[in-house]
Amino acid sequence: MRIKFWGVRGSIPAPGPDTIRYGGNTSCVSVHTRDGGLVIIDMGTGLMHLGNTLMAGAFGKGNGRAAILLSHTHWDHIQGLGFFPPVFVPGNQFTVWGPGGSPEVLEAILEGQMDPNFSPLQSLKNFSAAFDVRAVACGEPFEAERVRITAREHPHGTTTALAFRIEEAGRVFVYASDVGQPTAGAGPTPDAIAFYRGADVLLHDTTYRPEDQARRRNRGFSTYEDAAAAATAAAVKRLVMFHYDQDYTDDDVDALCASCRAALDRRGGAAIELVPAREGEELEI
Ligand SMILES: [Zn+2]
Repeated sequence: MRIKFWGVRGSIPAPGPDTIRYGGNTSCVSVHTRDGGLVIIDMGTGLMHLGNTLMAGAFGKGNGRAAILLSHTHWDHIQGLGFFPPVFVPGNQFTVWGPGGSPEVLEAILEGQMDPNFSPLQSLKNFSAAFDVRAVACGEPFEAERVRITAREHPHGTTTALAFRIEEAGRVFVYASDVGQPTAGAGPTPDAIAFYRGADVLLHDTTYRPEDQARRRNRGFSTYEDAAAAATAAAVKRLVMFHYDQDYTDDDVDALCASCRAALDRRGGAAIELVPAREGEELEI
């Protein structure tokens, strides 16, 4: 699997001179499978740049196909959709797997952001590509783009978000962003540890420093300590830091990374490789 980061920022796009090294776009990750499939995770503003790149290949000719995994429908995870050029090319095919419990509920939520009050697109029906919306059943593995995918629901403030475990030929990538920590210092649950267990790459949000999380616990995000605790307990090989708070500068993220390294070492995770996600960078597993 080839994993590429198109948007690594949390909550709202944060472009500007202070965020240029890690990037200011919101959540979007692409996974090119070994078998030639494409899985896109989340549709934050980074999706626009992925789309522009895809237009140079099969998606520009109407021969593209991808699965889109949606963790939840907060703006920073859906706002790129109306600016994703491949949905305006007839022949392309997208299958969206996400929360909501039923395809009708999820489609209605996505349709809502196309309302004329919010978007000139007016409706998902104005997409030219096939756009098939499906609801994920948590804990029941399904196949998309010829890889095995399992979803797990975790708390996220007043709502929940989905984590995804993607498996192909013995390689495992887990995407777990916007992971709420309702109780201070509770640590990852046994369920979460089992879901992340042994991953080649665990991408986990490191939205906050502990002192900022303490002031904003109801927003439903993790610190680098929470991510380090999960990575260590689940004995993953690599931890990817993700979804940095919009107010953090590049220098703040550098400091977050150093603190996360120290947290891993302190918790017995010295062998875990730490990768801070940056827009445009890739990992291969
Ligand atoms: Zn988010």
